Amino acid sequence: MPRYDLITIFPDYFSALDISLIGKARSAGLVEISVHDLREQAQGVHKSVDDTPYGGGAGMVMSPEPWGKAIDKLATSDEIHDLIVLTPAGKKFDQNMATKFSQHEHLIFACGRYEGIDHRVTEFYKSQPNFRVHEVSIGDYVLNGGEVATLVMLEAIIRLIPGVIGNPESLAEESHTLIADGESIVEYPNYTKPAVWRELCVPEVLLSGNHAAIKAYRSEEALKRTKNRE
Ligand code: SAM
Repeated sequence: MPRYDLITIFPDYFSALDISLIGKARSAGLVEISVHDLREQAQGVHKSVDDTPYGGGAGMVMSPEPWGKAIDKLATSDEIHDLIVLTPAGKKFDQNMATKFSQHEHLIFACGRYEGIDHRVTEFYKSQPNFRVHEVSIGDYVLNGGEVATLVMLEAIIRLIPGVIGNPESLAEESHTLIADGESIVEYPNYTKPAVWRELCVPEVLLSGNHAAIKAYRSEEALKRTKNRE
């Protein structure tokens, strides 16, 4: 079963992982998720996890020592551990990355706060033979911390684990998984009952029962939508 370890100074952020599809996947034993409080690895009465930046500048930087202790505790087996360091400076997360991560057995998510984590943490684990380190961003904007970014990644990754989504066919039909001319495209627009809502009608072709015509209409709409996003 895939294991996901999340390291954070705000464990409460992850209560959302008890609900909906991810909550069900956890109860069904399809995935194992554990949340770890970084402060438990901190020293001193104040359990401080940050300090002033070398070289000066505003804000605080997360100290390497508690991070090293927290990550080492999770890497007891001989398997390869994928350490995901959330940072706006990382490689942008996409559906391809979600697919790759959904095939890995052990992911550790390092949720930064303040100005981020001392860079030596990334450097150190990159040099370890039992680690693959991935610096990942969920988009070109700056969040206060890596917790929401981790939730975004977990939503995208866990729904790809076999058994999590009831009907696996729905995964193949989705945006960024659909392919046209070798390029990934977005999904066509969806409609449900009633056929008329606030004087807006569902496109005629979808009521026709003509499967070939519906397929052609959907491909055309998917291409139009993809083009409009550029
Ligand atoms: N000083 C950092 C910079 O300019 O790149 C920003 C630090 S940010 C305020 C604090 C933490 O939020 C980061 O260490 C990271 O874990 C998380 N974070 C912020 N934006 C993110 C994004 N776009 N993707 C992933 N994580 C992000």
